[in-house]
Amino acid sequence: MSEIIELTVKTNRREEMIEITGVIQKALQEKGVANGICHIFVPHTTCGLTINEHADPDVVHDIIATLDKMVPFEGNYRHMEGNSPAHVKASLVGSSQTVMIAGGKLCLGTWQGIFLCEFDGPRQRRVWLKIMSDA
Ligand code: ZN
Repeated sequence: MSEIIELTVKTNRREEMIEITGVIQKALQEKGVANGICHIFVPHTTCGLTINEHADPDVVHDIIATLDKMVPFEGNYRHMEGNSPAHVKASLVGSSQTVMIAGGKLCLGTWQGIFLCEFDGPRQRRVWLKIMSDA
């Protein structure tokens, strides 16, 4: 039986992408799961999860800048809270990722990292993990 593991991630800016590969990998090691699947989910409506390049920080910069062009901060939005662009961006990137686990490690490509995408920070965010073991 595997429970849900909760991680907390503190964001520092209105918009940013924070790599969380390391903290997820650490949670896997603490669970001692060698082979299986890790489902990662954020229970929020103005942040999301994506997997992309972690080597060149310009990629993260370009993703944020491109999303800003696609979903401008100023617009004819109806949502009274005033953070509609953050809701739209969160839906564009999605709220979950699933990564395979082999030999106790997340199966990611050389250049891939798992990022929490903050669109309405700074805030404290929760990340839920469901780790399912083959054995
Ligand atoms: Zn809102």
